[in-house]
Amino acid sequence: YRAKSQKTGFAVFRSEMNRRAYERFQLASYLRRAAELQELELHYQPVVFLEDGSVVAVEALLRWRHPHLGWVSPAHFIPIAEETGLILPIGEWVLREACSQGAAWLAAGHPPLRIAVNVASLQFERPEFAQIVQACLQETGFPAELLELELTERTVMRNVDESVGQMRALRNLGVSISIDDFGTGYSSLSQLAQLPINILKIDRAFVTQLAGTSGGTPLVQAIINLAGALQLTTIAEGIESEEERSILLNLGCTLGQGYLFAKPLPAGDVMGGK
Ligand code: C2E
Ligand code: MG
Ligand code: MG
Ligand code: MG
Repeated sequence: YRAKSQKTGFAVFRSEMNRRAYERFQLASYLRRAAELQELELHYQPVVFLEDGSVVAVEALLRWRHPHLGWVSPAHFIPIAEETGLILPIGEWVLREACSQGAAWLAAGHPPLRIAVNVASLQFERPEFAQIVQACLQETGFPAELLELELTERTVMRNVDESVGQMRALRNLGVSISIDDFGTGYSSLSQLAQLPINILKIDRAFVTQLAGTSGGTPLVQAIINLAGALQLTTIAEGIESEEERSILLNLGCTLGQGYLFAKPLPAGDVMGGK
């Protein structure tokens, strides 16, 4: 009896695995054609001064609308794009699209806004990545000073020495670099101090712990102090309440983004909203 139920359990496990593998396979094949079918779109979430809500930058966030599946969340398809290598052409599309949108805003006479673009490990680790960024800037005419590249702590810490070299090449182009989801990885202080970066983005997981009695304040204070000591700017992610905003301001964080201020918006709504 026991052996039989184990066997049944395994069969269920295996069919569940097959189902998931098939789903991923199918999604990957849809994703392969998403860009050419124009199913990909960038939305832009404002980054604001916490003091008065004025916008200093926007973060470009990828959106995929499949004709039958509807909106597919980046949390779902980005990992598949990374595993299949599709993130390379998709990531390059994102970079070019964000720069060309930024150039179009400038050409339309809007005040200069920095645009932050998320970069996956696979992209960052390509030896020719800095050249790709340079080509996007040249082709679109978007000023390098307005482009910010977001790298996660994990991406950077995989091989710190190589990362530093790649970051220097990028900084030489004039772009700025931020560490995304900061606090969720495992950088040591000495590693962090040697990185040629400009900004630490405090992960939403910490911001969420600020309000009420969950006691996240000392951690966030520590990150802000650390950033100050290294002369880095901090941007708090995922601010949803007035309470979080005022605590962050008191802790010395001047910039943030989150639903309290604005959700990620289609390009056409970013400038019109002001
Ligand atoms: P991320 O770079 O940390 O982006 C912030 C995420 O938090 C976004 O989710 C944004 O919509 C969400 N968010 C912003 N404010 C709030 C808030 O107040 N509350 C809550 N609950 N969420 C908030 P999204 O757009 O679903 O993207 C998820 C992740 O997917 C991103 O996290 C990033 O890691 C990845 N991603 C998105 N676009 C790209 C891309 O073009 N390239 C790469 N490589 N990764 C991307
Ligand atoms: Mg990001
Ligand atoms: Mg983030
Ligand atoms: Mg995040």
